[in-house]
Amino acid sequence: MFDQLGLSSEILRAVSDEGYVNPTPIQAQVIPSILAGRDVMASAQTGTGKTAGFTLPLLYRLQAHASTSMSPARHPVRALIMAPTRELAMQIDESVKKYGKYLALRSAVVFGGISIEPQIAVLQTGVEILVATPGRLLDLVEQKAVNFSKTEVLVLDEADRMLDMGFLPDIRRVMALLPQQRQSLMFSATFSSEIRKLADSLLKQPIRIEAAARNTVNESISHIVHRVNPGNKFALLLHLIRQQNLKQALVFVKTKHGSSQLAQMLTRNEISAAAIHGDKNQQQRTQALAEFKNGEIQILVATDVAARGIDIEKLSHVVNYELPGNPEDYVHRIGRTGRAGSKGKAISLVSEHEKELLANIEKLLNTKLEVEPVTGFEAEQSLRNLPDRKNRMASGNSRHDSKPAENTENEKGRKLPASHRYADSRRGGISKHSDPIFTQPYVPQSNPASPAAARQAETQSLFLAYRQEKKTVPALFTALTKNKIKQEN
Ligand code: AMP
Repeated sequence: MFDQLGLSSEILRAVSDEGYVNPTPIQAQVIPSILAGRDVMASAQTGTGKTAGFTLPLLYRLQAHASTSMSPARHPVRALIMAPTRELAMQIDESVKKYGKYLALRSAVVFGGISIEPQIAVLQTGVEILVATPGRLLDLVEQKAVNFSKTEVLVLDEADRMLDMGFLPDIRRVMALLPQQRQSLMFSATFSSEIRKLADSLLKQPIRIEAAARNTVNESISHIVHRVNPGNKFALLLHLIRQQNLKQALVFVKTKHGSSQLAQMLTRNEISAAAIHGDKNQQQRTQALAEFKNGEIQILVATDVAARGIDIEKLSHVVNYELPGNPEDYVHRIGRTGRAGSKGKAISLVSEHEKELLANIEKLLNTKLEVEPVTGFEAEQSLRNLPDRKNRMASGNSRHDSKPAENTENEKGRKLPASHRYADSRRGGISKHSDPIFTQPYVPQSNPASPAAARQAETQSLFLAYRQEKKTVPALFTALTKNKIKQEN
């Protein structure tokens, strides 16, 4: 029970408002260690409740500093939480606000892609808990908008992701700015030797907690593999959506344009779908996510980078339309379902040329994934029903085939290691295996006329998306919107 962990009544009340009865295994292990002031290195995959695992004891620790004073000097940054993506940063900030709602502690979230000035303004008013993506945090440091002299706790969430995205130099720069005397907590779904090295330099005599065995996946998720010809994948996806009446499924593809095209194809087949990837601006990503969460969109098609940290309550299905090149991404992908004990299903559509990728995943998980035939699937018939099939089938090599490495997504624009690139490129392309839906040219969304206009549009829509979800609007966006209204007047 939560009340045996030594948390305060204010925090327990907030936890009970969320309907949580018992701590999850990672929470039961991590909370006492953090309360004891220890550094922690935790292997916790997403969906295990790790956010509350570090947020609850963090709030408890900072409770002594709670203050209703308006003076910014009374609200220095006492805890810094770093996350790899904007979506994850926003979700952590929401959790901090949720669990800390009965405490006079302030939190804010900062990330790139929107104007920096309102973030500076919020920081000037003072916040105890700052959630940040590394790049924007360093921009704020350069502008002297943030000071870490009173920072007591550092949390690195999804540390493996941060390294994958090339954030290591940024993390080291931030660490150099923090007081030596501090508590550091590191969470990572997977543990590579780089992660261990980072942990060695960051943590002092950490308690190592492994909530789930390393690189294993949640037991409440069932894995199913459907073997399919590449040309029949789309028809099979449609069949599964209809036959199994999938109300809400997150579908993964490998490339940005692949995700846009798949979403378009689904929409043409009267299935509400949206794409979420790195070419979409923050406004589009936030809106798609909000609509997916509230059920307006049935299928969200995502790339690996864009989907990091997405937390959707009770997501029943994850579909791997294409298997990831990096087997650890499989663990991340399917971790979006089967959260906090609820049942989840991970369906992979696997073609002959993906056999090796499947074998790598099975090796990592140390288990064979079950292959199931699809009852009643008549690919030819389904394909016949697709619109403009002729055009799609008639076109030549897809962009998907011809430029695999370029399409590999990295939000920092850095080249990913070879192991993360499109696996088939090593075999000289996959044109003969290509999925016809990817043979249409990809037309990226046009950008708004000026950067200022784009930022304003983003901000406004972020604000609206928050409103739509009926969530507390973070101070940051409230300030942004107020500024905009002022400007317009
Ligand atoms: P996380 O792994 O932090 O992304 O959390 C996954 C989901 O589990 C979130 O939707 C949380 O709201 C939920 N959750 C966290 N702790 C608990 C708990 N003790 N009992 C039930 N649900 C929880």
